[in-house]
Parts: sequence; C-alpha cells; structure tokens
Amino acid sequence: MDAGKLIFRCTDCGQEYPGHTFMYLCPACETGNRAWLPPKGVLKTVYNYRRIGEGKDSGLLAAQLQKSRYLELLPIQHLKSLPRLKVGNTPVYNVSQHFHLEGMQLFVKDDSQNPTYSFKDRASALVSAYAREKEITTIVAASTGNAGSSLAGICASQGQKAIVFVPAKAPMAKLTQILMYGAKLVPVDGTYDQAFDLSMEVSKEFGFFNRNTAFNPFTIEGKKTVAFELFEQFVGKMPARIFVPVGDGVIISGVYKGFEDLLKLGLIETMPEIVGVQAAGSNNLASNFQKATFAIKPGVTCADSIAVDIPRNFYMACQFVDKYNGRFIEVSDEEILEASTLLSRNTGLFAEPASAASLAGFLKMKTQNSIPEKSTNLLLLTGSGLKDLKAVQSSIKLAEPISATLQEAKKILEL
Ligand SMILES: [Zn+2]
Repeated sequence: MDAGKLIFRCTDCGQEYPGHTFMYLCPACETGNRAWLPPKGVLKTVYNYRRIGEGKDSGLLAAQLQKSRYLELLPIQHLKSLPRLKVGNTPVYNVSQHFHLEGMQLFVKDDSQNPTYSFKDRASALVSAYAREKEITTIVAASTGNAGSSLAGICASQGQKAIVFVPAKAPMAKLTQILMYGAKLVPVDGTYDQAFDLSMEVSKEFGFFNRNTAFNPFTIEGKKTVAFELFEQFVGKMPARIFVPVGDGVIISGVYKGFEDLLKLGLIETMPEIVGVQAAGSNNLASNFQKATFAIKPGVTCADSIAVDIPRNFYMACQFVDKYNGRFIEVSDEEILEASTLLSRNTGLFAEPASAASLAGFLKMKTQNSIPEKSTNLLLLTGSGLKDLKAVQSSIKLAEPISATLQEAKKILEL
C-alpha cells in the first residue's frame, strides 16, 4: 500500500502509528486491558484527506470518489481484491406511507440484501480483501452468528479459510450457514465474550488474520461504506436522523466514520443525528455512556445479534456519539417484536429482531415527540429475519391443518 495513504490513531491515547504495517490495538493502551472491561486502544484509520481533496471542488471530488468506489478511502490497493459477490449497494425504500407519519419521512436501508444476508458482509469483504493483498489465507473471527456466517461466506467466495468461534447457543440458522460455507466452526460453551477472547488467543498463537470486530480496525472501515452509499442515494442531502441497532458499537462507529470522512473532505456540511438503539435487556453501551466507570449488567434479549456484555468498541462509539450530538435509546423485547411484525406486514421487509430494533427506536422517539415534524429519518436494517426464526415464534400462530374441502377452507378463511 502507498506508504502515505493512511495512518492509525488510537481512540484513547491519541498516539499515531504509520499505516504501512497492520496493527490491531494500540500497544501502549493494550497492556492495561482487562477481560471484564471494554478494550482500550481501538485504532481509527485516518487518511490523507488534504491530498485526496487537493485541487478539486466538491462536485469533482464526489464524482471521482464515486467512480473509484471510494478506493482512496479504503485500506486496500485494488478493488479487484474485494469479493466478486455483490457486497453493499443495498436498496433504500421510502416506507413513510405505511406508518401514518403526518409529513415525516421514513426510509429504510435494507442491508439484509448482502450475500450472507447481513450488514457484516461490508466488514468481512474488506478484511478478506486486505488479507488477499497480504497473501494471508486463514481468517479467524468470534461471532454471535452474523459476523461468523458473513466471514464464512466471503472467505468461501475468495478461496480463503475461515475459522469461526461462536457461543454454542447461537441460532441454528446462523450455525448452519457457517457450516454450509465450509468454515471450521468452533462452538464455545460460554458467552460471546469468552468466544471472542479465545479466538484472539488462537490467532496470536498461529499467526492467523483476525476479523474480530473493532479489534481489527478495518471492520470499521468496511462498515463505513454504508455512509458513502447513503451520500449517493440521497444526493448529498442526508436524512436528519439515522437509527442504528447497537451491540458492540462497531456498526454505529462505522456509520459515523464514513460520514466523518465525508465531512473532512467537505462533501457534507453536517453530521446526521445518529440514534443508537439498544435492547433494554442488553444495554451495556447505552447504560454506561458518559459514566465514570464501566459496569456490566448481564442480561438477555430476543435480539441475539445485539446481545453483548462487553461492547468491543465502547470508547470509540461513545466518543462519536458525544462529539456529534448523537444519542442512545433503549427498547424492550416487546417493542422489538412488535416492530418486527409491523415492519414485515407493512413493508414486506422481514428483518431479524436486532434490525427491527431500529424501527422500535424510531417509534419510541416519535411517541415521545422527540422527532421534529417533516424531518427525514432512516432505519438501518442489518440482518434478515430468516436468520433467527425462533425469536419471532411467539408473534405468529400456525393454524391446525384442515381437510382438503371447500367447506373447511371457507371456515378457516372466515368467508
Ligand atoms: Zn493508545
């Protein structure tokens, strides 16, 4: 890679490191990390914005970046290193008419349309492309399911080997997906956090590339691409508010990072208000925001993709939310399941509970009159509902079979 293309900057101590050698965490901060606290030393990838924008007005710069698929803002040398599968470029739908919003606009960006049906493909694709350029053939990840199935699928398409550590209780659909893609699946009798730590130990021991979220700074770089797409899809006029499901704090940091890149290049003037939506049952990011000491509250939620005890990108996510006046909101499992049903029935989009949390957050803020009239709002849907059918079983009812007669059909159809 061009030596001057990027540097790494520590989120916590601010130390900068040259970008030509890959790094996971800031070595100065990493030594103080403890298993029961969010890691310090997560690195932000910083580009030479002055050089990218030099001699171009914003129209020319935007056109150039769109043409190069933002390669100047990615930590890889060639677009051809990315998977041939279609990652990103997911659709945006205006769903305002389905929700009686009285002048308010509501859009949905449907990232369940990625190759493995989740937002995580954005990170896996970039990590895999970087590994390919460095001729690394094995990539390891810990996951609650989506990141693992994503890595497995992307690696299958790139001829790389994936090793995935998951908590044994992860939903069967995600585990099946990982195995079907031919990855080595390691179920861990413990929590996601234990699987995470074990995967790091194994990577270190055998020199594998590790895709763990936030620990690998390029996961944030992959996830930021959603902001570039929104910039194009809304022709520079961003929604005022974006609702993002939050677990580890990496997706929300990715969304912020993409917009921050655009701000630094003068392509947008203001940061949208980003609302991080957490499940009240597992709210370790929201509940510790702006607190002096971090305290874990172990909990459960039907939204397994955002059930996290120790948010791996806690400090960066909080810094972004603080700096750009974002906010966190908590929603109950009941509100999530209700939103899941509403979304499916009204729009034809079947999202997993963690994704539907973004709609639950929007509806809650609307009920609280915290959303200005006539504002434009966007929900990020991060994963397909087919990934976790068990979670929504309680909200559906399967009728008893009938005999194949018109009379019986009339009865069941109430006609
Ligand atoms: Zn540091």
